[in-house]
Amino acid sequence: MEKFMYVSPYMRITQGYLMGSHVGSYAIDDGGSDSGKDYIIAPYSGTVKQIYPQYENEVFYESDNPVEFADGTVDYATTMFLHQDSPMAYDMHVGKHYNQGEKIYIEGGRYKGKNGVFATHLHVEFARGKYQDWYKNSCGYYSLPNAKKPEDCCFIDDTYHILYNYGYNFKNVKDCEYKLGNYKTLYNMNVRRGASIDSGIKKVKELTEDGKRNATSYIPDDNAVYKKGTIFTAKVISKQGNYVWAKSPSGYICLKDNKMEYCKKL
Ligand SMILES: [Zn+2]
Repeated sequence: MEKFMYVSPYMRITQGYLMGSHVGSYAIDDGGSDSGKDYIIAPYSGTVKQIYPQYENEVFYESDNPVEFADGTVDYATTMFLHQDSPMAYDMHVGKHYNQGEKIYIEGGRYKGKNGVFATHLHVEFARGKYQDWYKNSCGYYSLPNAKKPEDCCFIDDTYHILYNYGYNFKNVKDCEYKLGNYKTLYNMNVRRGASIDSGIKKVKELTEDGKRNATSYIPDDNAVYKKGTIFTAKVISKQGNYVWAKSPSGYICLKDNKMEYCKKL
């Protein structure tokens, strides 16, 4: 599954959300590397669903599939871009498909059909769910339905240049990699024989002495289930598709799947 990535390789946020012309919305402005016209990249693989060339070249871009948001949720994503001066860059048109990371748009200063009115920048808003047309919010500004804070949507990685993040903490992809060490279960968790949901669940009698103390049952032939709040040590991490497994001295425990996280790193 793709992670929802930030749209400007040079992050320089010049106006935050819920303020100024962004009152009532989670839109931000990004000025890119400098006062020139920087390119904007596709935050995920997706398709252009709508363009309004008569105004500010507003582009509505929807993900092909559900993507992972930086807050850990999984959903379709829609992004709205504004202000590119015409003509549209990179052969953009409604129905055009782009792969994640491709150049798709260029900063600009277009306003009400006139180019170069503003200093060049990108106005961008991120939302969960498939494309729905924008709406005028109670403050009189156009906004995406189901919009979310940018830092709850987008990841960055080490290729991004963070010039100014406006105090918003964007999660780096590399901090999402699971590391060896101690984890705490957030739910009651099965202890399995292998790194797969098809692997059988161990019996209480097969756990280590320490493991037995954390099991939901004392009966030797009951299934081995760690209580919520159990701390265990991951000696090996293995990934199987969307599943991430930890091998502990007592057996395998699922850390996450495509829906949620089951254990927290300590
Ligand atoms: Zn703006």
